[in-house]
Amino acid sequence: MMAIMPSSEAPQPAPTTDAGRAALDAVVADPARALLALDFDGTLAPIVDDPEQAAVHPRAVAALDRIGPCLGKVAVVTGRPVLTALRLGGFDDRPGLSRLSILGQYGAERWDAQTGEADIPPPPAAIAEVESRLPRLLDDLGLGDVALEKKGRAVVLHTRRLADPAEAQRRLAGPVAALARSHGLAAEQGRNVIEVRDPSVDKGRALRDLVAQTGATAVVYAGDDLGDLPAYVALQSMRAAGEVRALLVAVASAEQPALVPRSDLAVDGPEELADWLERLADRLGC
Ligand SMILES: [Mg+2]
Repeated sequence: MMAIMPSSEAPQPAPTTDAGRAALDAVVADPARALLALDFDGTLAPIVDDPEQAAVHPRAVAALDRIGPCLGKVAVVTGRPVLTALRLGGFDDRPGLSRLSILGQYGAERWDAQTGEADIPPPPAAIAEVESRLPRLLDDLGLGDVALEKKGRAVVLHTRRLADPAEAQRRLAGPVAALARSHGLAAEQGRNVIEVRDPSVDKGRALRDLVAQTGATAVVYAGDDLGDLPAYVALQSMRAAGEVRALLVAVASAEQPALVPRSDLAVDGPEELADWLERLADRLGC
């Protein structure tokens, strides 16, 4: 016999914490005052060898298209430049995402669907200096095959396509951190990447600003990597202070398990996140 599930069924998997369950209940009870914020790579978009080939999971963007009109705010919060996330995301021409915001480069850049305009401040001069010194440093380490991605406000070293990415990342960590520090920058480790960038900007600050701007009282945040930890920390702190209810979703991977123990809900990769977003749309009735 075929099981018929009511459309109001809670999205599965369910949160495993009281705080997470309370946040999800708050989203459903008052969606107009809810904020759904999601990382891009490894969260909405499956990780691929060539970052230029990344694309949001089609069912995830379709689910967001449904959810958009129901919630106070839907935002993508990414380390990517906003215009890259916009180009790769397939978010435009989606009627349900006509109020979407993309916060790029960890919140330094912003694009709003309502205006179609991007706010992109000039990059710190120190980034260009580090970029100019990296090829020599890589050659000295015998790691000239490491791919450099110049993002303007950051430079990213990609080890994914090397024979032994983890070993390369270990050897790069110290020298790259020293180079970054000497220019007042930070070197942050991610999934087969090291990113050199301005440490004064992070996803935690981006989330705090979004909450303040939107007046959201309930927040769902989904991420997969170490760059998402400041968002987790900010939301945990705001939750502890009673400022918001927050549901922290970890998009789990074998490469990066760090977020799972800190989360209220873990899903297995972008595919399962897309499933979850579809069920959230069902639960919201949108
Ligand atoms: Mg990510």
